[in-house]
Amino acid sequence: MSTTIKLLPEHLANKIAAGEVVGRPASVVKELVENAIDAQAKSITVIIKDGGKTHIHVIDDGIGMSKEDAQLAFERHATSKIATYEDLENIRTLGFRGEALASIAAVAQVEMRTRQSSADVGVKVRIEGDGKTDLSSDSFSPGTSIHVRNLFYNTPGRRNFLKSNNTEFKHIFDVIQRIALSHPSMEIKFISDDETILHIHPSSLVDRVKDIFGEKLSQTVFNFEQESEFVKISGLLGKPDFARKSHVEQYLYLNSRYIINRSINHAVFQAYENLLEKGSFPFFVLFLTIDPHKVDVNVHPSKMEVKFEDESSIYRFVLSSIRRALSEHDLVPTVGMRNVSSVDDKIGLQFRSVQTSVQRVTNWRDLIKSDQTTLDVASVYPRSTAHVDEEIANKPNKTSQDEHMLVSRPEPAIVDKERFAAVSPKVWQVHNKYIILPIEEGLMVVDQHAAHERVIYERTIKRFNETNTQSQQLLFPLTHEMPAGDAALVKQLQPLLESIGFSLKFFGKTTIIVDGVPVDVKPGQEGTILQNIIDVYKEDEHNLKLEPREKLAKSFSCKAAIKAGDPLNQTEIQSLLDQLFGTEIPYVCPHGRPVIVKLSLGELDRRFGRTS
Ligand code: ADP
Ligand code: MG
Repeated sequence: MSTTIKLLPEHLANKIAAGEVVGRPASVVKELVENAIDAQAKSITVIIKDGGKTHIHVIDDGIGMSKEDAQLAFERHATSKIATYEDLENIRTLGFRGEALASIAAVAQVEMRTRQSSADVGVKVRIEGDGKTDLSSDSFSPGTSIHVRNLFYNTPGRRNFLKSNNTEFKHIFDVIQRIALSHPSMEIKFISDDETILHIHPSSLVDRVKDIFGEKLSQTVFNFEQESEFVKISGLLGKPDFARKSHVEQYLYLNSRYIINRSINHAVFQAYENLLEKGSFPFFVLFLTIDPHKVDVNVHPSKMEVKFEDESSIYRFVLSSIRRALSEHDLVPTVGMRNVSSVDDKIGLQFRSVQTSVQRVTNWRDLIKSDQTTLDVASVYPRSTAHVDEEIANKPNKTSQDEHMLVSRPEPAIVDKERFAAVSPKVWQVHNKYIILPIEEGLMVVDQHAAHERVIYERTIKRFNETNTQSQQLLFPLTHEMPAGDAALVKQLQPLLESIGFSLKFFGKTTIIVDGVPVDVKPGQEGTILQNIIDVYKEDEHNLKLEPREKLAKSFSCKAAIKAGDPLNQTEIQSLLDQLFGTEIPYVCPHGRPVIVKLSLGELDRRFGRTS
């Protein structure tokens, strides 16, 4: 009886396995460069031709290999990086599977030169796809050089799958970029078709970002670092006003290995939520460092996917540490001028974030010059709150509306005008829309609606988590007739609505009785606020990236906030600013628009043609 099952010859098995490791020229570059990093190289040169299809040459100045190792390196499962299962659980190198060189050699013509610094001469190894090796001594500087020619020369099926030289080049460039960002202390040279594409020297991470993405982007990022017991996160975050329309410029690394992980990306995005315009994505370079025992990097030969032991706690850690980092930074946009020489150039709202990290301001009064502390309340705003409140309090037939006026006013009812004037700095409301305040550096303009929105948004988010709900009970409950779909949505959101202060009862499918509203609801708004919230909520309804509570907080703050056009008195302005600077992120509204714009003295001086 003859057998039909045969063991494959090794070189054929390698050829098949190569399919998993070596998909395209970029994967060869990735494996070779990672080997160089594992070999403690300080400088790596990558030379390619024709998108890597005909030539890939990687040269490093790492530890090199002995003659014996040089031969063994091309055997399948030959690795110096792990020896036992325990090692596999505790991987600190980029490679460990011992299959890259064997796979590459199975589908290309490979020539390697390598020398350890202690050795007098180096070795040269040549391997053809059929597994034949040819070994000789050679003079060579310490390190390793691997030259891969004619990739897939013996597997035409795969070769035909390769894309244009340009596309393959782009994939290789991406690989080099990812490595360059995670190893800023490495010198990297990349040459394609005899042209030097990149030559970057050891530097800080920010400078590396500058080398790769340019000065402009590098000015919009800030460093951050946070650590918990079992995980550390560090890297660079892009400021929200420089977010891009695509998510390609997002780099995530786990223990120095570039990874793709939707869950962590989502956590980052979530942290930026409400700081970003719709459809834009923040730039980031993030490094997670975790005990290798707690992650499995051996999910796929490309090692780009990883499994965390406890993914949800990593998610929460990333989310909260990035939120904190963002709120600790001065994200205030400044007004810049596009072209200083052209006089008729309108002041373009060109947002340029403050370059250095600034201590977060929690009291706006600190921003103001100390000599500007007097104010005649009456001249700026003749109708003071005190005046109105007194009037209401003394009204003979008070209505429930009037009661509201007293309850919901944020500041104390009676204001001592003289005392107030003595301690309050000058601030102005212009066009019932913006608040202007002089600050040390120049001038600050606050959008009153956006500011109030931010205040109410954060307050609402907090209320969701509190047990004692604050509500304004209405003396006369209001009956709403709503379209059935809207009423159903209200029903669905009822627990959240009640936790922020609504008190609701349902009759049938379309009737809702409101007998209490949140304290933030202004007098006169009680009858419309619910429908308004629902209308705005529906616009966001299919935004799956947002939680219902966030969507609700957004729609509620939008509708409950004061509007452009609402006149404010001094007390109200001051109270609004106090509350604004008490928020986590005062500079951006929940929809991602700026709340504050700064105009610096320098800018004004330039505008007026002053030289000093
Ligand atoms: P792995 O990286 O998973 O160990 P490879 O097939 O990529 O497997 O490499 C096999 C072995 O060859 C490595 O473990 C290492 O010992 C050696 N090696 C490969 N490239 C280099 C290099 N550039 N410098 C020094 N040693 C290398
Ligand atoms: Mg390797």
